[in-house]
Amino acid sequence: MSTIVVTGGAGFIGSNFIHIALKNTDANIINLDKLTYAGNLDSLRDVGSDSRYTFVHGDICDTEMVERIFAEYQPDVVIHFAAESHVDRSIDGPAAFIETNINGTFVLLEAARKYFRSLKDDVRNSFRFLHVSTDEVYGSLADSGYFTEETPYAPNSPYSASKASSDHLARSYYHTYGLPVLMTNCSNNYGPYHFPEKLIPLMILNALEGKSLPVYGTGQNVRDWLYVEDHCRAILTVLTKGVPGEKYNIGGHNEKTNMSIVHTLCDILDDKSPRADGKSYREQITFVKDRPGHDMRYAIDASKIQRELGWVPIETFETGIVKTIDWYLQNEDWCKRVTDGSYRRERLGSGE
Ligand code: NAD
Repeated sequence: MSTIVVTGGAGFIGSNFIHIALKNTDANIINLDKLTYAGNLDSLRDVGSDSRYTFVHGDICDTEMVERIFAEYQPDVVIHFAAESHVDRSIDGPAAFIETNINGTFVLLEAARKYFRSLKDDVRNSFRFLHVSTDEVYGSLADSGYFTEETPYAPNSPYSASKASSDHLARSYYHTYGLPVLMTNCSNNYGPYHFPEKLIPLMILNALEGKSLPVYGTGQNVRDWLYVEDHCRAILTVLTKGVPGEKYNIGGHNEKTNMSIVHTLCDILDDKSPRADGKSYREQITFVKDRPGHDMRYAIDASKIQRELGWVPIETFETGIVKTIDWYLQNEDWCKRVTDGSYRRERLGSGE
């Protein structure tokens, strides 16, 4: 593994992955990112001067640019994280999700296919294209049962539908063209560098700022949570041990209702950073109208990756959530620059 093109490396999971890959491999990393609102170069400040790391500002929908990246950097591996990823935004404006998640993935696969065809046999054999996806493609579960790799797709939001489409495209490039595609479908991630529009960082930062903690509906929706670094380690495992053409579910068996997550966050914050008035952060919880098409329950059966590749998560939810809260408490500057928008103004070089 010597050169990895990572798409979307300035986002939440991509930036965590780059940190872990630079630490645990000798690979050169090329980070191709458009820097949408979700792309934050602050999350990569500490690796910016590493000679094995290169940032390229670009859009995966731009065919010419993507082909140039393949020609110039001659990667052995592509790890495709870039996506529009927030379900609520996909309900308000699905177009960007179709463009990046479907068309962008198509552009990337096409460029990879042409590049792969041009490789000599020895390099060809080691080339890998890893498509990173979500458990949301499987739809919603009743009270029991788990998503396996064989569960039929039944996406319910424009986000999950666009990811499902990209999964189908990625799969077809393996079956039709022999491109060595690997696919991962992971449960909800949490951890450092998470943009505070998502449940866990939103609740932590709102709590500390004395704002309300808005919970959808009755808060009984169930999600399966995985610490982001465990997801990144799983991706490295799939890269090195996974079989092209296969897909692997990734999850940590941490099913929690949204309500219990918010209670846990409040209780840990009550202990680590108590409110000035001595009351619990639970006082700030409010209930808001449910999201349309809100899936009731997700739960991943990750036994295939455990059995076949030997990956198991290191963190339990209890250890991972404490690490996460500590990270947000210790990285006030990162949080402040996200909430006041300065992370975006500087990197765009405008007063926007
Ligand atoms: P994110 O929204 O935090 O980051 C997405 C990154 O992609 C950003 O840096 C953004 O600037 C970049 N990007 C967006 N459009 C682009 C384009 N057209 N060209 C180049 N770059 C572009 O997302 P995330 O939470 O880090 O998720 C990464 C991937 O993992 C996504 O594919 C997502 O579907 C998948 N996933 C996420 C989770 C989760 O819980 N967050 C779980 C399972 C799978």
